[in-house]
Amino acid sequence: MFDNGRDAFIDLCYLVSAFLLIFSIKRLSTPRTARSGNMLAMAGMGLAVFATFFIDGVIDAALWIVLAMLIGGGAGYFASKRVQMTQMPQMVAVFNGLGGGTAALVSVGEFLNRDSVGGGEELSILLGTLVGAVTLTGSMVAFAKLHGLISGRPIVYPNQQIYNAVAFGVILILGVLILVLGEGTFDKSLLIVLFLVALAIGVTLVLPIGGADMPVVIALLNSASGVGGALTGFTIDNQALIIAGALVGASGMFLSFLMARAMNRSLFNIVFGAFGAQPTGGASGDSASGEALPVKSTTAEDVAVTVGYANSVVVIPGYGLAVAQAQHAVRELADVLEDRGVNLRYAIHPVAGRMPGHMNVLLAEANVPYEDLYEMDRINDDFRNTDVVLVVGANDVVNPAASQDPNSPIYGMPVLRANEARNIVVLKRSMDHGFAGIDNMLFHDPKTSMLFGDAKDSLINLATAVKDV
Ligand code: NDP
Repeated sequence: MFDNGRDAFIDLCYLVSAFLLIFSIKRLSTPRTARSGNMLAMAGMGLAVFATFFIDGVIDAALWIVLAMLIGGGAGYFASKRVQMTQMPQMVAVFNGLGGGTAALVSVGEFLNRDSVGGGEELSILLGTLVGAVTLTGSMVAFAKLHGLISGRPIVYPNQQIYNAVAFGVILILGVLILVLGEGTFDKSLLIVLFLVALAIGVTLVLPIGGADMPVVIALLNSASGVGGALTGFTIDNQALIIAGALVGASGMFLSFLMARAMNRSLFNIVFGAFGAQPTGGASGDSASGEALPVKSTTAEDVAVTVGYANSVVVIPGYGLAVAQAQHAVRELADVLEDRGVNLRYAIHPVAGRMPGHMNVLLAEANVPYEDLYEMDRINDDFRNTDVVLVVGANDVVNPAASQDPNSPIYGMPVLRANEARNIVVLKRSMDHGFAGIDNMLFHDPKTSMLFGDAKDSLINLATAVKDV
């Protein structure tokens, strides 16, 4: 009777937790409600963890669990306090890897420790081990690439696809053997071999992916970590884990598809296409025949006159804005221009910066009103009627090659059509490439002026100069 009551309490907690997690995802869909969405998710997860302590036998290990939570929670807290906004994708990669690694280790641990395992459970153990291990090492490689520990370019070697196919074949054979053989020491050894091969597959799958495709890979690995968690939920018969894992798996997959669509690529092409494997030189500036292309350099004073007397100005923020931490400086310039009656808006590309929503988060930090932020589809048709576009530390997301050069690796990727504006001013430090490592002809457009320097310094100088206009 007591046990039934306790089970009902746990189930009720898990049900409430599931609702909280689902509502949190709904609220995460717009920047305005995202903060409270995060809070709901934390409450949901906290409730699920709390309820888990009431499962039979768990309380006996409470000390270990609390100790692990303190170590893990403490590490997470300090890491999140110290991490720079520009390093957030690396942080997400680490989280994904840890989630996948946990799923794999729990799956292997359950198989090794149990005396008997049912057929269905055996399948979820196999899949949990496979997905979790691939996610662990794949995420570690993604981390190393994003953090510059290894080259961000696709690392390719001969017969790569054949090695991957053979490795998957080995996994398949091992999986069938384990399912057919049933239990036994030999069976357990086979699962450990499967775990090791899956770890290797994670590395070989992500190494050839690089450049502008990394955001999609992170979203895919995020989805995989959720699937791994859900499979572990089946193995240890925990509904909260199944629901939370399924939510992460489904939302990560949706995000992957949406990002792939934003780049006009298929997920298959992203994972197996080795995009950007061919180096394209050090910096923008040479024509196909090798001649130096013209570049018009300008000063803050000259730009101040152009923007100060403009009717409409669109700011396009990119990764350089985040590096320079120029969000407050851009807001101050916007205030000065708006005081002069200029209609100022921000154009946000879905993959500007280094993580989805990067620019929204940065600009929200500087209290830029949400209604001034325009997504790509809402603003692209307005550029032709815009007096001045200020490209602040953005590069790939305004590269016209995406629509004009069928030979460009980013051909077909939707970009902000800054080139259609009457005047374009680009704030960056040099003629260096962006993340995708390719030339940008926008910088050589006769309508474009380059304001070289750190974005924050340039914006502060510009705001001061506008006041004198
Ligand atoms: P890019 O990476 O294309 O370009 C950023 C530009 O900022 C560089 O050309 C750099 O030029 C300039 N820059 C760097 N530091 C400063 C500074 N202190 N002051 C001024 N400028 C600076 O950025 P975008 O935002 O245009 O595009 C994002 C790219 O990142 C896309 O290719 C996208 O696919 C990829 N990506 C996106 C992720 C996401 O989810 N948003 C995640 C991972 C990758 P210079 O050195 O000359 O100053």
